[in-house]
Amino acid sequence: MSQYDVVIIGSGLGGLESAYILSKEGYKVLVLEKNRQLGGSLQIFVRDKAIFDTGIHYIGGLDDGQNLNQCFKYFGIMDKLNLIKMDMNGFDKISFGDDDKDYWHAQGYDNFIEQLSKDFPTHHNELKTYTKLIQEVCNYFPLYQLREDDEPILGTKYLDVNTKDFIASVVSNPRLQSVLGGSNPLYAGDGEKTPLYVHALVANTYIESSYKCIDGGAQIERLITKNIKANGGEIRNYAEVTKIVEKDGIVTHIELKDGERIEAKNFISTSKRRAEHPSAGRNIQHP
Ligand SMILES: Cc1cc2nc3c(=O)[nH]c(=O)nc-3n(C[C@H](O)[C@H](O)[C@H](O)COP(=O)(O)OP(=O)(O)OC[C@H]3O[C@@H](n4cnc5c(N)ncnc54)[C@H](O)[C@@H]3O)c2cc1C
Repeated sequence: MSQYDVVIIGSGLGGLESAYILSKEGYKVLVLEKNRQLGGSLQIFVRDKAIFDTGIHYIGGLDDGQNLNQCFKYFGIMDKLNLIKMDMNGFDKISFGDDDKDYWHAQGYDNFIEQLSKDFPTHHNELKTYTKLIQEVCNYFPLYQLREDDEPILGTKYLDVNTKDFIASVVSNPRLQSVLGGSNPLYAGDGEKTPLYVHALVANTYIESSYKCIDGGAQIERLITKNIKANGGEIRNYAEVTKIVEKDGIVTHIELKDGERIEAKNFISTSKRRAEHPSAGRNIQHP
């Protein structure tokens, strides 16, 4: 009999969230992290007493009732996070090499339109259309809205459109098009390849609200880790999974770098390196 219901590979936000949800539901979970520091892209480093984030450095959707706020309440960390709200009139500054002017993305949809309309006064209506469509696209994703919904998202008109074509279809001024697409590097967006819905989901979260973690994003890891342990979950660092072993399409166990073998009923891999998991079976999930 395996000791664990679920073994989770990777202690980034995805792994910790999975571990929290499952342990809260009474499953016996084990999180395995190959590095010393837990948290993946939540890790920080310090130079001359200054804290630097390696990944997550600002967070959206944290105002009351918004999606991440509800998630973080569920994880039991919302009221413990040390947060500061970013500038309402400018959480992101878009700059161009050939232009002395800076352009700002503001929080709140009305404010977003109002602030950019100061720089592009004749494009107010286009900005209204852009923001309306962004919200409409997000509405097609029930999980993002924390809504139960059977509506299939596949086949909707928005899945086939790329970000660049979409922006150009609603906004005529090329500079304003670039300003709206200016935050694409956040998610390695490529205007001609990145689907509109990726742009919409990311843009929406920060326009809804933008916060920074005072003293870095590692506090998210520390708080969720504490709550997983309180639920009876286990977390191990220096535990690199090097092999996922299956029999008849079902993963039976995994092996760590030092040869240790760990069995479980189910496995979740949050590692991006799928090539290392050629034998992933029916009981392994990639969130
Ligand atoms: C540079 C950068 C900046 C970002 N900025 C922001 C931001 O400002 N705001 C925002 O909301 N999001 C931001 N993101 C995105 C956000 O950080 C990620 O979406 C999120 O943290 C990813 O979590 P994850 O669990 O999927 O993966 P990761 O954080 O990558 O975690 C995966 C974990 O798995 C471990 N692992 C991998 N292989 C193994 C193995 N074989 N055995 C054991 N452990 C293993 C890794 O060591 C790692 O700890 C940023 C991302 C990056 C890279």
